Amino acid sequence: MKEVAKSVAGKLRDAGYVAYFAGGCVRDALLGEEAKDYDIATSATPEQVQKVFPNADAIGAHFGVMLVKRDGIHFEVATFRTDGSYHDGRRPESVEFSSPEEDAQRRDFTVNGLFQDPETGEVIDYVNGQADLKARVLRAIGNPVERFQEDALRLLRAVRFATTLGFEIEAKTWEAVCDNAHLLEKISIERIQAEFSRIIVSPNRRRGLELLVDSGLINYFLPEVLDLIGCEQPPQWHPEGDVYVHTCIMLEMLGDEEVPLTLALAVLLHDIGKPATYTYDEEDQRIRFNGHDAVGADMSEVILRRMKYSNDTIEDVRVMVANHMNFMHVQLMKVSKLKRFMSRDTFDQEIELHRVDCASSNGFTDNYDFVLAKREEFANEPLIPEPLIKGRDLMELGLSPGPKFKEILTAVQNEQLEGRLKDSEAAIAWVKEKYGI
Ligand code: ATP
Ligand code: MG
Repeated sequence: MKEVAKSVAGKLRDAGYVAYFAGGCVRDALLGEEAKDYDIATSATPEQVQKVFPNADAIGAHFGVMLVKRDGIHFEVATFRTDGSYHDGRRPESVEFSSPEEDAQRRDFTVNGLFQDPETGEVIDYVNGQADLKARVLRAIGNPVERFQEDALRLLRAVRFATTLGFEIEAKTWEAVCDNAHLLEKISIERIQAEFSRIIVSPNRRRGLELLVDSGLINYFLPEVLDLIGCEQPPQWHPEGDVYVHTCIMLEMLGDEEVPLTLALAVLLHDIGKPATYTYDEEDQRIRFNGHDAVGADMSEVILRRMKYSNDTIEDVRVMVANHMNFMHVQLMKVSKLKRFMSRDTFDQEIELHRVDCASSNGFTDNYDFVLAKREEFANEPLIPEPLIKGRDLMELGLSPGPKFKEILTAVQNEQLEGRLKDSEAAIAWVKEKYGI
């Protein structure tokens, strides 16, 4: 991709324009990481870019952004520009084409404000971004308060980059994030969700959540998490502390790789029903959270719908939260029930949620080990095999369709899952015997 990006910049240069790699790709290259995409900044205006690349798409020509496709890869080619005044806290009223130096000034953080000459590899640094990159510091370009007031999405981007890059947020920048957190109200939930998702799947997801809580940003899209703070738990089961601490430790225990979004969200929300179900059992002298799994599943659905997650994501998380306590019963389940329990698409993620749920608190591993052993044991056959008989078979036995059908078919499936029925003939004989047909 880098080579293709170089050739795009090369064509602009051959036509007499300046063309640099800009922003994230320069940052990632200097960190020794693979860039996800290459953005090119140029002195050519959108019309001039169009002349060099007749097939370029004028996606944001108004802001100076053209989309150039080459070898099946898309590149954003953007004219050096200055942003005009911001009135709505989201986007500039107008832009003016200008110099690379001014273009660097309009970018959000110093480490995102670097250019690189694709030919020579020379880094062009108007914002002291290289020093911050070395020191692993995230610092707003210019006056942080003004920059967040211009565009409130930058508040969340500050937390996102600090999280994904593992950088400290510079003191004045952090102060400005905290003081201006309320400006996030101006930002659409779709854009908030996109940033939040990148934070919560990141290897540093625990710190990401803590930054969102400590800055107050989370108030504006997921305030329910704040109720976990100070929600005490029975110390014999949860020596680690309150529900918030428990959840933070779990997020960390998911490990040093990115995790699937549904797993991260399910861990974050698995005990979200605890504050609402908190009771003190005087008789047993202990705290209880009866039904917190079901309440939490409903709350998760409401929260994720409000955040405009996809229906599939919402459903997976809902199911995972609803079932997280059932792991306590796996060793007592009948084989048929256990197989159904294990047959959900989300099951592998549920095992991981259960692992960190225990590891962060009581340290029990018996249910986890049991489930892993069972998964191994059942690995060679489908958990839910083809049914031995269908409704048609029951009709042939002279039964007429109705609620009884489902009851009989489920009973046959139970016997099949338990390994007591192996083929259709045996199943039909069993039905005749059992239901007196
Ligand atoms: P990644 O692609 O990994 O998310 P990135 O740095 O490429 O990181 P983008 O959102 O793709 O981030 O934006 C590209 C560049 O545009 C940034 O590096 C930054 O210079 C600039 N930029 C993006 N969004 C903003 C913003 N809201 N305010 C100021 N500059 C921004
Ligand atoms: Mg990018």
